Amino acid sequence: MRTVEEHQAVVAGLLTPRDPVTVRVPEALGLVLAVDVVAPLSLPGFNNSAMDGYAVRADDVASASEETPVTLPVAEDIPAGRTDPLTLAPGTAHRIMTGAPLPAGATAIVPVEVTDGGTETVTIRRASQVDQHVRHAGEDVQAGTTVLVAGQELSPAALGLIAALGLGEVDVVPRQRVLVMSTGSELVAPGTPLLPGQIYESNAVMLAAAVRDAGGEVTTVAMTSDDVDVFRATLLEHAATADLIVTTGGVSAGAYEVVKDSLGDEVEFVKVAMQPGMPQGAGRVAGTPIITLPGNPVSALVSFEVFIRGPLRAAMRLPEPERRRRDATLTESLTSPRGKRQFRRGVLDGDRVTSYGPPASHHLRWLASANCLLEIDDDVTEAAEGSTVRIWDLR
Ligand code: AMP
Ligand code: MG
Repeated sequence: MRTVEEHQAVVAGLLTPRDPVTVRVPEALGLVLAVDVVAPLSLPGFNNSAMDGYAVRADDVASASEETPVTLPVAEDIPAGRTDPLTLAPGTAHRIMTGAPLPAGATAIVPVEVTDGGTETVTIRRASQVDQHVRHAGEDVQAGTTVLVAGQELSPAALGLIAALGLGEVDVVPRQRVLVMSTGSELVAPGTPLLPGQIYESNAVMLAAAVRDAGGEVTTVAMTSDDVDVFRATLLEHAATADLIVTTGGVSAGAYEVVKDSLGDEVEFVKVAMQPGMPQGAGRVAGTPIITLPGNPVSALVSFEVFIRGPLRAAMRLPEPERRRRDATLTESLTSPRGKRQFRRGVLDGDRVTSYGPPASHHLRWLASANCLLEIDDDVTEAAEGSTVRIWDLR
């Protein structure tokens, strides 16, 4: 039997990052920058007002107070977006809005709140310092500065910065494209009536969501029967457009194991010392890496977490590819099979963790409301209440 770590290494070795691509900025959220972003312009691009109010020469309002207000003629009205060059004559004010360009000669902004708000003349009740409420060109970003570095994951704020710099496209490490396939002659699509003995397909829906949640792109979600020819034809039809193929089902020890029966030459089928998720396979079909997960829903998703999620994210060069792991205190005693790494579903509350639902690999309900996995070491057969256990934080 393979250890969990050995199989993790095999899977990680199959995945490779794609070459960088140029994408439109709105599509770059969550992707990793392939090159540094150097500011082509300064931010702000011009001196402008930080307040709605009046542009003045600070000297002209130096004596203004509640008792001795200063009244100035209002020579111009400058809303945000006004583009013609303006000059403030001494002894006058321009009404100005937030973000509007500061007229030449103005040295301060008087907030509207300390004035009478006039449009012909304005009476100002407070003195201003030079530069008060003025935003200076380049105070945020100087043109030519590196503002984002290659390897950085693009957040909403990063996209905002890129847009503010006038860039419409950005070079990123593209998403890994994943073909998800489920197998089983008992499966029918949700929304279709069930015959006795049939069940609704859930793994492909779940795994496709897990791929997207990990930052990947799902190219196709296909469901096939346990017919070898149908499975192989479907697989080969879609393999070329994927960077990774993930299948579920058909890899155990029974008869009608369609994945095993179809891919004996291309995939190495192994047993991994873990519960759930013992039957696993990894290889290449038509050059594309393929990971064959077991069919039980809990096994399928736990296997995705343990083997695929980290390497998939690493292949997109995401800075934190792995789930956060840490120790938590067990609120109850647990047993675990000797010689197998057990992954239980759990609920983490602060530093305390409660195992959630039975260990059996078909209890999807518990997994759906769990927020962590408990990782119980291979040699542990009993974990006592109050002892520490490693958890994978799924939040
Ligand atoms: P298998 O690994 O194909 O033997 O499947 C193991 C168990 O998981 C069986 O009870 C299957 O019916 C169930 N199963 C397999 N694939 C799926 C699927 N895509 N959705 C829901 N249940 C599945
Ligand atoms: Mg099956």
